[in-house]
Amino acid sequence: MEFTHRTYEQGQTIAAIATPPGIGGIAIIRISGDRAFDTANRIFSGPIYKYASHTAHFGTILDVEGNSIDEGLALIMKKPKSYTGEDTVEFHCHGGSVVSRKVLESTFAAGARAALPGEFTFKAFQNGKMDLTRAEAVQEIIASKNELAWQVAESHLKGKLYDQISLFQKEITEVGAIFEAWIDFPDEGLENISKENLLRSLKKILTDMTALYQSFHDGKILHTSPSLCLIGAPNVGKSSLMNLLAGNERAIVTHIPGTTRDIVKERVQIAGMSFHLLDTAGIRESAEIVEREGVCRAYAAAHNADLVLLVLDVTDPTNIPPQLPSKNTILIWNKIDLKHNPLPKLPFTHQVRVSAKNGLGLNFLKEEIHRILWHKHPPSKEEVVLTNARHYYALGSAITSLKKVVKGVQIERSPEFLMADIHHSLRELGTIIGINIADEILSTIFSKFCVGK
Ligand code: GDP
Repeated sequence: MEFTHRTYEQGQTIAAIATPPGIGGIAIIRISGDRAFDTANRIFSGPIYKYASHTAHFGTILDVEGNSIDEGLALIMKKPKSYTGEDTVEFHCHGGSVVSRKVLESTFAAGARAALPGEFTFKAFQNGKMDLTRAEAVQEIIASKNELAWQVAESHLKGKLYDQISLFQKEITEVGAIFEAWIDFPDEGLENISKENLLRSLKKILTDMTALYQSFHDGKILHTSPSLCLIGAPNVGKSSLMNLLAGNERAIVTHIPGTTRDIVKERVQIAGMSFHLLDTAGIRESAEIVEREGVCRAYAAAHNADLVLLVLDVTDPTNIPPQLPSKNTILIWNKIDLKHNPLPKLPFTHQVRVSAKNGLGLNFLKEEIHRILWHKHPPSKEEVVLTNARHYYALGSAITSLKKVVKGVQIERSPEFLMADIHHSLRELGTIIGINIADEILSTIFSKFCVGK
């Protein structure tokens, strides 16, 4: 369904099933709006109006004719202490699509209308319960596919990104105040000392803004599952490494060369991040058509992968597949548990020594994977990381305007011009947290949410 937030007005009462479809123990039907209590009262056996806020009550959920649908709980939340900031009732009934659907239809018959995607969160935003970065973080939390993505989304929900953007706004406004004074008293101009101070302040703000802007490199990765491609000659231990990283026996390990003919894929978690791990056919000259095809696919997979794990056997270090990308490649010297000659020097920046047999060096390999992947290191709880393309572009535009201000101060442009760029920068930052943001943009943001959130 197309979502435009203009399709409802303040005060309209909406309802939706908040739990995922399918079989489950419990389903939750949410009602929010001025008439939430009235709606719920018509379809619940107990006196909804008499219940205190934030209390749960067992009873029968009914249709508008008074026929029983299910037994369940009614959870009461009086405004403004609810997610949306409005009166809210949640019915907790038995799971499964039939019961929850019937309860939902009953709320419609009693006066609510079907909530659109993200409409509960939109109401929360509109009622000042959360700024836009927090509202968007809700969706990020729901969509998190790994621990690190969740951690960053959680910090956005706690307002860390909001605080950071607000700080930039405050600092830029302070600079703007100096220009305003200059506009009011043009004859005084900018004294040298204040010009230096101004430039210092502006550059400091720009440095901090740029650091946040660059964090998008990591933020983007958080919501993907980068691919790691194992490649090497037959029998060097690729499948053994795959099993070691994946923590199971998915790939077939044998001492017979050429066992893996096609690509074996596995999802693995490494230090809070999920990856697609690909095991490929051993690279060697072969007359056999199936094996040749396997080798072609192995090369293609390596060239398309985010990271290549080139495996060499320390007991036979000369067997190196040609045509490998050296960028984003980790050279893995495997079988270090076996006796071997000194290893040759090969031109790979990232090299680790492991034993797929006993797990030696596995942690170094994991660290190396993360070292290549991230700008500096995996995002920590303390850092603010940009994960949203909308925020990234707005911040980029704010930075561009601020750079113009710096240039303008250096060549002593008139303060009116400088103020125009200051205002543009502030406006762009404002859109990140949801100030003066166009209706169409809001619609696009909230339409990506699921119904019931
Ligand atoms: P692939 O053909 O590259 O996938 O290699 P496999 O994982 O099938 O391993 C080939 C052979 O090498 C098997 O007999 C493994 O048990 C053995 N192997 C793999 N890794 C190690 C290792 O680190 N040390 C020793 N000693 N043997 C290994």
